[in-house]
Amino acid sequence: MQQVVIDATIAYFKKEVISDMNPHLKDDTIEKIIKLICVDTTIPDSKKESLIAFHDAGDDAMFLAEVFLYALNKPNKKQSNTVEYQDIPLLDEANYECPLCHKKLVDTIKGQAVKKYRITQIFPDGLDDETAAEFSAVYPAPKKLDMPDNLIAVDVDCAEEYLLNPNAEEYRNLYEIKKQLARNYAAKQTVNKVQLEDDIRTVLNALSTKSDATELIELEYEALRIDEKFDAENFILKNETQFQVVTYYRYIEKVFSNSNADFDMIATEIKISSMKLEKAGLSQSDVISQLSEWIRNKAELGTESRLACNIVVSFFIQNCEVFHK
Ligand SMILES: [Zn+2]
Repeated sequence: MQQVVIDATIAYFKKEVISDMNPHLKDDTIEKIIKLICVDTTIPDSKKESLIAFHDAGDDAMFLAEVFLYALNKPNKKQSNTVEYQDIPLLDEANYECPLCHKKLVDTIKGQAVKKYRITQIFPDGLDDETAAEFSAVYPAPKKLDMPDNLIAVDVDCAEEYLLNPNAEEYRNLYEIKKQLARNYAAKQTVNKVQLEDDIRTVLNALSTKSDATELIELEYEALRIDEKFDAENFILKNETQFQVVTYYRYIEKVFSNSNADFDMIATEIKISSMKLEKAGLSQSDVISQLSEWIRNKAELGTESRLACNIVVSFFIQNCEVFHK
């Protein structure tokens, strides 16, 4: 930007904007802008400090002008509406609903999964010293603000309301909710993990001892990636399956390397069954659930083992090429 434009903007803010503003409104507006700057993780700390320094020095016209120019120069990045893969554990922890107002954190609009949440810092970045001290007296500040312990998924409205003007009581509430969610989630994960590992082992054993594929065909699963497999409205199922596959990948690999199971044989059998189901006109997500059911019957497991069967199917579909390197 040319210096003459910058100078003109600053002069304009000095002459017109500041003098026209109602003094009370001005204070409120400036305070609100400072808070927004503080919680904006895309602004480097050094920039935050240099912007706020104008206000601290009493030069609000300069502050507003600099903020305006800085905002102009920033790429106009729209808040992404895509659900990020790394957010899934926090969404799962919250059961996909805002723990404060119980609104859905992910919605489906016209067949698309739409992000309705913000991953929010419980102890927020950029508090003034006095507020930070108040918060720390309630529960000490975490060492790192962006660690999962200090993050919680809440819906957009609740996130904005909290971050614009957090008080110690809201902080206490959010902290305690998080503690409860994290505790439940950890318990659920432990129970699931032990049970799932048992079930996965049973499934794999059943598959290797009862496999009856007679011919080996070429394994080619490239067209069947998990992310293409589920319809948008099944997005939670898709993410959970992906998450589980990633979680249990090493375990499944270990079971295979510690057993005599013939990986190719099992993969082939699953491939043949999958082709039959697809030829019969089933959707891809139906193919997966049918395959899971087929495996569950084969392994003689109850309906509570559906997830384990699903993970095994997804594992074969997603990881064949990896396994064959
Ligand atoms: Zn909410």
